[in-house]
Order: sequence, then C-alpha cells, then structure tokens
Amino acid sequence: DLFYRLLPKVELHAHLNGSVSSETMETLIKRKPHLNIEHSMTAIRRGQRRSLDECFQVFKVIHQLVDSEEDILMVAKAVIQEFAADGVKYLELRSTPREVTETGLTKQRYIETVLEAIRQCKQEEVDIDVRFIVAVDRRHGPLVAMETVKLAEDFLLSSDGVVVGLDLSGDPTVGHGKDLLSALEKAKNCGLKLALHLSEVPSQREESELLLNLPPDRIGHGTFLHPEFGGSDSLVDKVCKQNIPIEMCLTSNVKGQTVPSYDKHHFQYWYKRGHPCVLCTDDKGVFCTDLSQEYQLAASTFGLTQEAVWMLSQQAIGYTFAPEPIKQRLEKKWAELKQQIL
Ligand code: 5GP
Repeated sequence: DLFYRLLPKVELHAHLNGSVSSETMETLIKRKPHLNIEHSMTAIRRGQRRSLDECFQVFKVIHQLVDSEEDILMVAKAVIQEFAADGVKYLELRSTPREVTETGLTKQRYIETVLEAIRQCKQEEVDIDVRFIVAVDRRHGPLVAMETVKLAEDFLLSSDGVVVGLDLSGDPTVGHGKDLLSALEKAKNCGLKLALHLSEVPSQREESELLLNLPPDRIGHGTFLHPEFGGSDSLVDKVCKQNIPIEMCLTSNVKGQTVPSYDKHHFQYWYKRGHPCVLCTDDKGVFCTDLSQEYQLAASTFGLTQEAVWMLSQQAIGYTFAPEPIKQRLEKKWAELKQQIL
C-alpha cells in the first residue's frame, strides 16, 4: 500500500547483518562459492517459522559471508540505501564489531568501516539520517563486553555524533545480565545511550528486574515483561514509571516463534496503555520484511487508522538517541510531509 511507503518512518532496531537484502546476499554468495551457502540458509520466507535457536544459526551463516572490510562497506551502504528507499528518514543501525584473523579485520576497523558507509551515503545525498549503536553479544561474556564498551566510548567522542549508544543482544538463553552489569553501567556513565534486548524469552524475568534498574533508555522486544505473558506487575511498573520506550518487531517475533501469532503480539498490551512503542524491523533480510510492511501489519492486525499510524511514526522521533536539534529537524520534516500524504 502506497500510504505506508510514503509515510516518513524512524527505524530504531535494525541489526546490520540481519538486514542484508536478498539481492546483496546473492552477491555475497557468488563471491564466496567455496562456502557452499544457499540462499535458503540466510532468510526465513513467507509462512516459514524457525525456533529462536535456529534464527541464531542463520546469523552464523551470514557472518561467514560478511567477514572483511570490503563486505561490511558493501552491506552497510546497501542496507542504508534500502531503508531510505522504503521511506525511512532516520535510522539507528546496530552491529556487533567482529574481528576476523584471515581477512585482517579488527573490531576498531569494523566500526570505522560502518561509519565510512554512513559517511559515503551522506556524501551521495541519500535522504536519511543514520546513527550507529555498538552492539554487545551477550554470548561473549563480561570481558568482551567491557572491551566493546571501551571501544564504543572512544567512538562516542570521535565520531561527530554518529555513534550514540550501546546495545545488548545475542542469544537470550546464554549467559546472565548480572555478569554484564558493570560494563553496561560504565557505558551509561560515559554518555552512551542503552538499548537493551529485554525479556525476549520467559526465563529472563530476574535478569530484566536487574537491568531495569540501570535503567535502559530503550527496551528491545520486552515480549515477556507483562504478567499475561509470564512476566510480572513489578516489571511492568518499572517500565511504566520510567516511561521506557519499547522497540517492537512483529514479523521477527512471529517468525522466531516467541509470539504465537500477529494478533497475540504484545504491541497490543503496551499500545493500549499509551506506553511509548516504536515499530521496527529487527532483521529485515532474515525475516524478509521492511518497515512499511511492519506498519501495515500493525495497522491491519490492530485496526489502526491512518491518523493513528501517522502518530505512531511521528512519536518515534522522540524515542531516538539523536540530539535535540536533529529531533526538531525531523519534526519539521514530518509536519511538511503530513499535508502531502495524510
Ligand atoms: P550483527 O550484530 O552481526 O550486525 O547482526 C547480527 C547479530 O545481531 C546476531 O548475531 C545477534 O547477536 C543479534 N541479533 C539479531 N537479531 C536478534 C534478535 O532477534 N534477538 C537477539 N537477542 N539478538 C539478535
């Protein structure tokens, strides 16, 4: 539907390597024929479901395909251009810096390369403002987390406002947040905004109690926070009192089977309470979606009017980690476009 494509959008939860489109994936597969990777191994198509564990296997395959500076520059540029073509005006991209001995890739160069892609897109006047969130993979434990925070801190100071925050992601069934608490506290104290995956699986209740005390600046998923889904009133209270925006990824949660169907998505629960919610794609490549489609799905599933959809996209400006003048610029853009589109 044209309305959803024309709707100006804010994307706040997009993992770089999960966002690689099928076109870019074709190119990568052709570049590395010796890996014997088929396209079906990197994407979960229409009607298909996988367990969350199987989803994490998909990322391992993609990481084999994206393992050099050249690859990262190519995928990052393509992903940014694709979001822009879908009507995303402001994007916070996140990625886990990796080091690969065979190609000489270091974590430092990894981040620098993503920043270079952002710089090139700006120079080529792609109509989108892009920021970067450095991701911590919880599987790698507290030492790596601390190392990543230090790196993110350096870039917070040197990237001219492009690096804005820190993410906590990776397989939620591995490790415990309490071991990562000091790294996350350090990040917060040095001015990095925190976007943490929280309560993606039911077993994270105790961990979420702990991490909500930081508190995070945004929550990723939060699927099992509320009592009807096995969370608790105390968790909901903490989220509401601190008014922490929740990043909601409908297709990702349904295809990853943490949510049984679109109509049972927890978006409903939080949206009805008037809690800050932002629709996001999570991994548009892996889950074969885009942000226009996610808005359309939310609208058709929960019966939102075009006016309500517009409000949802506009309110997301307030949940970005952008400085105030950028938020004002986005508000102005939305106001101009509103007359043309709505
Ligand atoms: P990358 O950080 O390599 O750019 O993107 C892929 C990585 O993002 C995965 O290896 C994983 O750590 C993280 N990721 C992507 N999607 C999800 C998700 O739905 N849940 C969690 N917890 N992590 C994810």
